[in-house]
Amino acid sequence: MKKKNPWFVFFWIMLFIIVFMLINSAKQRGQEVDLEYSQFKQYIKAKSVSKVLVSSDFIKGQFRDTDGVLKKFKTIPMDDPNLIKDMEDNNVLEFSSAQRNGWLAPILFNWGPIILLILFWLWMMRGMAGGSKQAMSFGKTKAKLAGNNAAKKVTFKDVAGCNEAKEELQEIIEFLKDPAKFQKLGGKIPKGVLLFGAPGTGKTLLAKAVAGEAGVPFFSSSGSEFVEMFVGVGASRVRDLFDRGRKSAPCLLFIDEIDAVGRHRFAGIGGGHDEREQTLNQLLVEMDGFDTKEGVILIAATNRPDVLDPALLRPGRFDRQVIVPSPDLKDREEILAVHSRKITLGDDVNLNVIARRTAGFVGADLANLANEAALLAARHSQKSVSMINMEEAIDRILAGPQRKSRLMSEKEKKVIAYHEAGHTLVAKLLPSADPVHKVSIVPRGPALGYTLQLPEEDKYLTSKTELLDRLSILFGGRVAEEVIFSEITTGAQNDIAKATDIATRMVTEFGMSDKVGLISLQKPNQEVFLGRDISSSDRHSGKTSEIVDEEIKNIINSAKDKAVALIKSNISILNKIVDYLLERENLTGQDIDIIMKDEELSPLENGNVETDKKETLKNLDVLLGKD
Ligand code: ADP
Ligand code: ZN
Repeated sequence: MKKKNPWFVFFWIMLFIIVFMLINSAKQRGQEVDLEYSQFKQYIKAKSVSKVLVSSDFIKGQFRDTDGVLKKFKTIPMDDPNLIKDMEDNNVLEFSSAQRNGWLAPILFNWGPIILLILFWLWMMRGMAGGSKQAMSFGKTKAKLAGNNAAKKVTFKDVAGCNEAKEELQEIIEFLKDPAKFQKLGGKIPKGVLLFGAPGTGKTLLAKAVAGEAGVPFFSSSGSEFVEMFVGVGASRVRDLFDRGRKSAPCLLFIDEIDAVGRHRFAGIGGGHDEREQTLNQLLVEMDGFDTKEGVILIAATNRPDVLDPALLRPGRFDRQVIVPSPDLKDREEILAVHSRKITLGDDVNLNVIARRTAGFVGADLANLANEAALLAARHSQKSVSMINMEEAIDRILAGPQRKSRLMSEKEKKVIAYHEAGHTLVAKLLPSADPVHKVSIVPRGPALGYTLQLPEEDKYLTSKTELLDRLSILFGGRVAEEVIFSEITTGAQNDIAKATDIATRMVTEFGMSDKVGLISLQKPNQEVFLGRDISSSDRHSGKTSEIVDEEIKNIINSAKDKAVALIKSNISILNKIVDYLLERENLTGQDIDIIMKDEELSPLENGNVETDKKETLKNLDVLLGKD
């Protein structure tokens, strides 16, 4: 099949239109003056008109205006039996009646550009209706089919770390390998998998590896290519992508940066039907429409899960969400190992040391690092890559323009460690708190670090004590920073927002304040059509809201005081948690238990690997910035 570049066609049409307009304007440059018929007659009577050409549609000619300048004119004819006589009487030298000019020329000249535009539009629409094959390459997806020839095949071996994500995706691989068999066994497969993670953490690589492991074609596209200037093109491309997928099933479709199309639709006044929304709707329609039986799986990636339209996350769409975390110390070492396979490392190179020095680097940075180091070694004609090359490569990447890497400074790391250790310590010391499952200073999504608590069982009721404890835990982070550094950072923003929310609800919804009493002051649910930020007016009076504010403040202050007391009287344990965090970056619940007993952890080798599926599944809370 001959491949036509859509831009080429587009370019031609644009050129055509431009030439047309130039011709038209050149015509106008002949300074034709539009005259009223009455003016025209006056000029005749003033003997200023020298030439006249009469047709049924117009009268054109030449005249001298009041300043004596010779000009062309044009006017619309009227039923005027005296015209010829007047012309004869007033020295009009030449007058004639024009032959009808045919109908085509005027239409073409006046309407040409518009007709062309309409034709162009129709042509585009026709393509979008999905019928014609080649006319509409414009609305075709640009999805690239990754070669799955054995030499270039990416498998899980090429993806270091990400064990949880790999485990999650295993099922998809089994399915793609043999959809029929999988279904006979009663497996239910999600239609779409959403990969969450910072840029460069290996989402694309993972998706590719899934296709590689299953041995199916991999179509990769990016959300941004679905957002085009012309309404309808994006939707058409989405349709096309799915069509291609169906034809090559079983296969894997990948959409990078899905947030470009999948942003929360504007729910405000006036609505708004823009291109992106249309594209998103098409995507939803396609996802609802295709049956997993067909053997097509959609994997999408984003680093902004918070902006995604909730409709995308509903069951039957991206019903599985997999977090691709930034690599921790151990992962970084493994990734470095993967990418140093092809280069010769000198004896002095210790990847563990490099991994330690690169907290904050993601997979792409580390791949880049290995590459840079090799280039540096080659430039110095070395036989192997030395530690010095590696170190220099780190600096280059930090200075490099490609990627704004965030290498955490020692100081930053320390602040984050104290912050998270503060949450953990308070959580461990409060009896009603949920067990701490994991503490980490590895950035995840927008959060710089996180403390993960998992409830032991599902709870339907929460007591006032539990809520107060929760507040103290939330403040633990900020308080630890304050106590240790006598300086506070912006890192607690999310904690504060959450705490305020809890305290507010305690007072206004749960009736947990004596002063306010058992009155619900909850704002009525915001109507969708009012938009998300236009909240309805408060129901309570100014006086009540003063009391409410005060009560909220009281609750918050007493929770904070509790956190301060707990942290100040346990500084040595706090320091110990921090030391271990700085060394290992992640600590498990068991690790914390051991530290709390003031015992030492066993050496790093096997103490720190954890692939807890529960955690990834648990929810997106962590990723959504609960620092
Ligand atoms: P994302 O899609 O998350 O932005 P990519 O998958 O495009 O990231 O990663 C870019 C490159 O970084 C990959 O091609 C690979 O070389 C390297 N990389 C990222 N993560 C890993 C990993 N976990 N293991 C090995 N290499 C990785
Ligand atoms: Zn915090």
